[in-house]
Amino acid sequence: MKNILILFSAICFAPAINAQRLSKDEKKIIDVINTQMPETLRLLEDFVNINAGTFNTEGVRKGGNLLKDEFDKMGFTTEWIKLPDSIKSAGHLVASRKGKKGKKLLLLAHLDTVFEPDMPSNPFRLLNDSTATGQGVVDDKGGDVVIVAALQALHSLGLLKNVTITTYLTGDEETGGQPAAVTRADVIEKAKLHDLALSFEAGTLNTVCTGRRGADTWNLYVYGIQAHSSGIFGEKAGYGSIYEATRIIDSFRKALSTEKYLTFNPGLIAGGTTLVDSTDNVRVYGKDNIIASKTIALGDVRFLGEKQRREVRVKMKSIVENGNLPGTRAEIVFSDAMPSMEPTEANQQLLAVLNKVNNDMGLGEVTGGDPMKRGAGDIAFIADYITSIDGLGPSGKGSHAPGETINLKELPVLIQRAAIFIYRLTR
Ligand SMILES: [Zn+2]
Repeated sequence: MKNILILFSAICFAPAINAQRLSKDEKKIIDVINTQMPETLRLLEDFVNINAGTFNTEGVRKGGNLLKDEFDKMGFTTEWIKLPDSIKSAGHLVASRKGKKGKKLLLLAHLDTVFEPDMPSNPFRLLNDSTATGQGVVDDKGGDVVIVAALQALHSLGLLKNVTITTYLTGDEETGGQPAAVTRADVIEKAKLHDLALSFEAGTLNTVCTGRRGADTWNLYVYGIQAHSSGIFGEKAGYGSIYEATRIIDSFRKALSTEKYLTFNPGLIAGGTTLVDSTDNVRVYGKDNIIASKTIALGDVRFLGEKQRREVRVKMKSIVENGNLPGTRAEIVFSDAMPSMEPTEANQQLLAVLNKVNNDMGLGEVTGGDPMKRGAGDIAFIADYITSIDGLGPSGKGSHAPGETINLKELPVLIQRAAIFIYRLTR
């Protein structure tokens, strides 16, 4: 409790909103959010202090139930979307209400964090008058709390009447919810029933996200003839699998390294006579006087849009299968991991609505950011089906690192912006 009072005094220094261009209702929204900040921070503190590592499914559900109570109090219909036991996931918390006014909104965030119970704990605490730390405080528990607090303000002013809003909080975002075909099927179906998706991963007052790259993985297998090293480059022994693997990987670099939005990284390579491999770990045997017969390389590929995703696979496959050095052959296997979110015209138009809110609040311009700088996220699974924007959550630093922080001065302002954005879209 003492903690919270110190926090609240800090919040009073939050930048004053220039409310000239806001409506009467919108000014009230700002007042209510300021008044409810101590409650909001208490919720954030309690929520952050429940461990919610993705594989701690009980913890993820416990944290989710804390928020479920808040949605229930506001009259949302709440349910847990359960997943098969074979998938270690807490499932997803969904809170919905239906009406006829304005756009139908899907609000997205995630309940889980990268911090499992056996990792060093980092309870919620203040570092100074404008910064707090804690597990998932900015990625993405702060994002969940931004949604709850914005909706609470709208609810207390009677502004949620007759609107359609579904809040979808996933329980396994940090592992990419594998297999996605199962874990993301429900959110994709629900997305199709809405007009706009607003995602509350971390962002800033002046940068959100209208496009983010997707990421897949690839395994390259190269085979040569095992023989005495003295015969290398000869007719019988050929060039061996290591020379061929380096030809292929260097050809990838030469052919594709300057393509916009595309990166690909060989993260592991091993060559010799015997390989024992698992997903991220390879044991290799070989000798300096034996021509290597097997080489494996594992890597990722990051792309923007399905077209680039398809085309890069064709180009890489062609390099792998054509022009093999004598006595070698090779194959490459791609695995889908995460689709991308393309910065479509519709997404830009949604950004323009947010930009108007920003300007009306006196916060300056907000831009869509550079897709190159953003990692993959849940929004990408639905972005092909619905106009989307991401990065509406809290601001802070150090996601996925032990000292992760949230900016408490900007938090009330980001909640206000979210609430006014939702309010305008649902009129
Ligand atoms: Zn996240």
